[in-house]
Amino acid sequence: MDCIFCKIVAGEVPADILYRDELVIAFRDINPEAPVHVLIIPVKHIPSLADVTEADAPLVSRMISVANRIAEQEDVAEKGYRVAINCGEQGGQLVPHLHMHLLGGRQMSGKLG
Ligand code: 5GP
Ligand code: ZN
Repeated sequence: MDCIFCKIVAGEVPADILYRDELVIAFRDINPEAPVHVLIIPVKHIPSLADVTEADAPLVSRMISVANRIAEQEDVAEKGYRVAINCGEQGGQLVPHLHMHLLGGRQMSGKLG
């Protein structure tokens, strides 16, 4: 499959991987928008948030707990951080493999879009 994030999961494209388990991997964004900018993605290819179902509850829960753990490791947990999932064209999603952005290390703007 011609998916850049599936290639990162497979090790075919290099990435600065911070965490990996049977459900998710986390790696640094190649074009960071904050001092800490990490992407948390499912190992399996899910195109977008719109494709997530009730059956994916353990996966979504894992993505959130991994984001929290990395926020601790990256030392932004105390001051706070933002997680965001862009969905579809107008949601600003560019890579069609579900991913959660973890952003921290600076004051986030009040605006979300
Ligand atoms: P989206 O706009 O789809 O929510 O976010 C996609 C993110 O993936 C962007 O922040 C972009 O910088 C990041 N990205 C795109 N291609 C790569 C890549 O090959 N490696 C890494 N580490 N990040 C990527
Ligand atoms: Zn994929």
